[in-house]
Amino acid sequence: MTPKRLPVVEEILAANDDAAARNRALLDAHGVHCVNVMASPGAGKTTLITQTALALGERRRLGVIEGDVASSVDTETVRALGLPAVQINTGGGCHLDAPQVGAALEQLPLDALDLLFIENVGNLICPVGFDLGEHTRLAIASVPEGDDKPHKYPGIYSAVDVLVVTKVDLLPYVPFDMATFHRLARSLNPNIAILEVSCTTGAGMDAWIAWLLERATNGRP
Ligand code: MG
Ligand code: ZN
Repeated sequence: MTPKRLPVVEEILAANDDAAARNRALLDAHGVHCVNVMASPGAGKTTLITQTALALGERRRLGVIEGDVASSVDTETVRALGLPAVQINTGGGCHLDAPQVGAALEQLPLDALDLLFIENVGNLICPVGFDLGEHTRLAIASVPEGDDKPHKYPGIYSAVDVLVVTKVDLLPYVPFDMATFHRLARSLNPNIAILEVSCTTGAGMDAWIAWLLERATNGRP
């Protein structure tokens, strides 16, 4: 039996999908590959974005949209690196939607960008239900959160293209079994790419950057 959705929810999602299609067309017209970054609070979204920008150097021109319930601290961190960045404050909303991203895109110099990272609101549940017009959906899982997260949040693990496991330098200090984590994630999403990184030591960053460059060059739907 197909679960029934309330008509008002159907309308909201249809409006979101229309706006997402417009965002994607705009990004395509400017040759910008867009990555929607989703994770729980504190998993290391902003840090992965800033370390990726530093590792890419001059190879790709990066812009960032920062989504947060409140504040602009992450946007200030990103701008300090010289990257164009736009803040979206959701005012309590627990995910970004495509109309919000569409308004942010108008404030970015798209002709001067190759890659756009959207840092979604820290939340493992609803962000994945809203297409923003991205080309790649990325989830971050950090080692201190534990290796059982795919069990608890199957929706996001089933839906993303790539999973980046962060803070692997903490593996000696916390109970996190990497093989178990991979097995759980692949049981939900057999084709998922899994990269393991430490933004502190730099371990795994070369492989992540190689994956990203390959995806941004050849992986556009
Ligand atoms: Mg952040
Ligand atoms: Zn939400």
